[in-house]
Amino acid sequence: NPADQWATVDDYLVRAVVDEDDALRAARTASQAAGLPSIEVTANQGALLSLFVRMVGGRRVLEVGTLGGYSTIWLARGAGPDGHVVTLELEPHHAQVARQNLDNAGVGDRVEIVVGPAADTLDALVAAGNTDPFDLVFLDADKQNNARYLRAALSLTRPGSAIVVDNVVRAGAVADPAAADDRAQGSRELLDLVRAEPRLTATALQTVGSKGWDGFVLAVVNQGRALQL
Ligand code: SAM
Repeated sequence: NPADQWATVDDYLVRAVVDEDDALRAARTASQAAGLPSIEVTANQGALLSLFVRMVGGRRVLEVGTLGGYSTIWLARGAGPDGHVVTLELEPHHAQVARQNLDNAGVGDRVEIVVGPAADTLDALVAAGNTDPFDLVFLDADKQNNARYLRAALSLTRPGSAIVVDNVVRAGAVADPAAADDRAQGSRELLDLVRAEPRLTATALQTVGSKGWDGFVLAVVNQGRALQL
C-alpha cells in the first residue's frame, strides 16, 4: 500500500533530518488531548515552512488557520527571537490550546492570535492600512476561501514576500473534473487566480507523506510585472 510506504518514509525522514523536539511533540499531544483534529502539517512540512521564512529573511509572518499552533511554532522559530507572527483562527477553543502550546514552546511572546473569521480579520488589517508588510503568508484554513485570502495577502505583503498555500491537491481532486466538492473547486479557483495575477510568480507541487497525498502552492510577490520563469 503506497500510503503506508509514504508514512514509513516520512517517519524515517523526520528522524533522519528534522529536529522535531519535545516542545513540538508536546504541542501535538496536547492538541490531540484537547480534542482538536490531527490536521496539522507534518514535521517535515513544518520544517519546510520554517526554512521558507529563513530563506526570505522573514521577520513578519501571517498565518491563516492556527489550529493548535503546531505550524505556528515552526513559523515563529523561522522568524527568530525578533520575529512577529500573526495567526488567525475561527475557533476560540483552538486558539486557547494554541496559546498554551506556543507559550510552552517559548515562542508565545512573538505570536499574536486573532480569533474570528479570517476574512473579517484580513479585511480589517487591509482597511487599517497601518501594518508593516508581512514577509511570508501561510494559508491553511477553510480552503473554499483561499482565493479571497490570497487577495488580502497581496495587500499585506511587499515585493519579495513569499505566499504558501497548503492542501491544493486534495488527493488528486484538483485535477478531476468530476470532483465537485467545494474545497477542490476552491483549489482550482486559487490556481486560476495565481496564474492570472501579474504580481505573483508561482509554482504548485504535489506532496505525499504521513498525511496522505496533497500539495502546496509557493508564490513570490514580484518587484514589477510577472517574471517569466
Ligand atoms: N496550520 C495548522 C497547523 O498546520 O498546525 C493547521 C490548521 S487547520 C488545517 C485549519 C484551521 O483553520 C482550523 O483550526 C479551523 O478552525 C480554522 N478555520 C476554519 N475556517 C476558518 C475561518 N473562516 N477563519 C479562520 N480560521 C478558520
